[in-house]
Amino acid sequence: MTPKEFFEFAKEHGAEMVDLKFTDLLGTWQHCSYPVDTWSEGTFEDGVGFDGSSIRGWKAINQSDMLAIPDAATAKLDPFFARPTVSVIANIVDPITREEYARDPRSIARKGIDYLKQTGIADTCFVGPEPEFFIFDEVRYDQAQNHGFYEIDSVEGAWNTSRIEEPNLGYKPSYKGGYFPVSPTDSYHDLRGEMVYAMRDLGIVVEAHHHEVGTGGQCEIDMEFCDLLKMADQFMWFKYIIRNVAKNHGKTVTFMPKPVFDDNGSGMHTHMSLWKDGQSLMAGDGYAGLSETALHAIGGLLKHGRAVLAFAAPTTNSYKRLVPGFEAPVTLAMSQRNRSAAVRIPMYSSNPKAKRLEFRCPDPTANGYIMYTAMMMALIDGIQNKIDPGDPLDRDIYGMTPEELAETNTTPASLEEALNALEADSEFLTKGDVFTEDLIETWISYKRENEIDEFRLRPHPHEFALYYDS
Ligand code: GLN
Ligand code: MG
Ligand code: MG
Ligand code: MG
Repeated sequence: MTPKEFFEFAKEHGAEMVDLKFTDLLGTWQHCSYPVDTWSEGTFEDGVGFDGSSIRGWKAINQSDMLAIPDAATAKLDPFFARPTVSVIANIVDPITREEYARDPRSIARKGIDYLKQTGIADTCFVGPEPEFFIFDEVRYDQAQNHGFYEIDSVEGAWNTSRIEEPNLGYKPSYKGGYFPVSPTDSYHDLRGEMVYAMRDLGIVVEAHHHEVGTGGQCEIDMEFCDLLKMADQFMWFKYIIRNVAKNHGKTVTFMPKPVFDDNGSGMHTHMSLWKDGQSLMAGDGYAGLSETALHAIGGLLKHGRAVLAFAAPTTNSYKRLVPGFEAPVTLAMSQRNRSAAVRIPMYSSNPKAKRLEFRCPDPTANGYIMYTAMMMALIDGIQNKIDPGDPLDRDIYGMTPEELAETNTTPASLEEALNALEADSEFLTKGDVFTEDLIETWISYKRENEIDEFRLRPHPHEFALYYDS
């Protein structure tokens, strides 16, 4: 859509308002609305001003004026306003230099794609995420925080985790039994359906939706793969739609990777493939039908995996998910079919066009723009340096002895470890200035100060169980 078409589109839908959206450093959409008649085609060049100092992790107060330049191609009719409103996504620039703002996540994705093209390796990076999430009752979502400290048998879908003698749950999924009995055990089919219809109305192609393994309303909706920037934009719509549809039905949704103790967590497995001139670079006659290029790309992802996780599993809670026993990866190795390895090569299809890697470590708290780009940069580095991915790990990693596990390259045990890894290994990201030093330093210090320290300093409810009587 061009700026001219944008106004035609608004008129056609009777929209008198335009809602401008952009993503903050951590991955939350921010917005501001304007009457359409205050905008002209020039607005798509000149942008609109806002205060960057109030956006998490952005500008200091003394240099806070920023410009948001709407990207007309992203316009969609927003389904969550009472009156017709066109939403449009913006890029952020400095008002004086008019340079792209290096901490604008969308600019990282745009620079990443330009860099991919410049390398001559590929021109397109396709991304297909599988975000999982939990649906909770609105009035009871706070109980999720306490789960694991006392038993709850309440929330829709029941979280009866007493596994010793599991009672008949009356159509509620049993422990880890959510994947995937029909209704009425799957009580969220229609709600997910509403979410999917809202996505389809906006042109987001959905491949499937289903209940997940988790007992308490854990769900997954899969979008069809598309190019990196489009998917990063779409992932913002995805979370927005899921939350708003849930809210409109008296529910809440959390994308927290591990909201329920001792149950499956929510991941965002991310499928990726690199293409050049309409041809996939992934298929070949190597391990699991991969090309040499794809194997090197995987080598890069495994080598830089711990650093990539600082963006792909970016919360303290993320590392409560990356533990053995819940279909989440704990080893930075590749494998065809093995779901306990970080990189899986799906073997469902023999079509070479479908050949891809699946990175299983990420979770949906990630900022898609930054995380998909970090992952792609690791693939590029692997190809450029012909990095060997190591031997495939085709056995069940959960069954390995501690000694055997110690010899493998494991996922970080905490956000702290992931940030340390990023601090020590960021050159693959700063190539082509895709990630700036400033962005990486800001990310690390923001996470250390606002999340790790804030969490570390608080007495934890479980400490009362352990130590109250000590
Ligand atoms: N929930 C699992 C995870 O944390 C994945 C389950 C699945 O999709 N097979 O990654
Ligand atoms: Mg899936
Ligand atoms: Mg899943
Ligand atoms: Mg998967």
